[in-house]
Amino acid sequence: MAIFPPEISEKGGKPLDTVVDFARSLSIWPVTMGLACCAIEMMATAAPRFDIARFGSEVFRASPRHADVMLVSGRVSHKMATIMRNVYDEMADPKWVISMGACASSGGIFNNYAIVQGCDHVVPVDIYLPGCPPRPEMLLGALLALRDHIKKDPLGKRREEAIRKAEAAALKAVPTSDLKGLMA
Ligand code: SF4
Repeated sequence: MAIFPPEISEKGGKPLDTVVDFARSLSIWPVTMGLACCAIEMMATAAPRFDIARFGSEVFRASPRHADVMLVSGRVSHKMATIMRNVYDEMADPKWVISMGACASSGGIFNNYAIVQGCDHVVPVDIYLPGCPPRPEMLLGALLALRDHIKKDPLGKRREEAIRKAEAAALKAVPTSDLKGLMA
């Protein structure tokens, strides 16, 4: 009898990885990181109509040490960037980031000196959620996508290596301030 869904039973022949990833993918606790209007949609996700508790993520933590995922919901000001990075650094590994909304992912309509043009300049992002604002259903969809991602995640040293590679690639990318957009 198959105990785990087929996609994780087939995970590269590493039974411990399979069990650990299966367990933690079902209880992804978010750290509180509501930065602007997108945070209202994030809060609505926890309300009875959408009920994020169905997916094991209703425990929004004020302490980064209790959290697994950072939902960056809203624009990130330069003042807030160092604080956000401190919170991320204090989260225990493994940890993930969902960039919620256009502002968090790219600065959105706020192309000015005060706003970081994408939170991936500050923390490594696993999932970008489009919209202004994204609906609570979209956030739930992103959480489910993150679950699938976690089930395939490497553990331990292999995960550290994957993060190092992703950060190195992000540092090599052209800063969004140097990109030519439609308005340039
Ligand atoms: S994406 Fe839209 S709703 Fe979200 S923080 Fe930016 S302006 Fe507000």
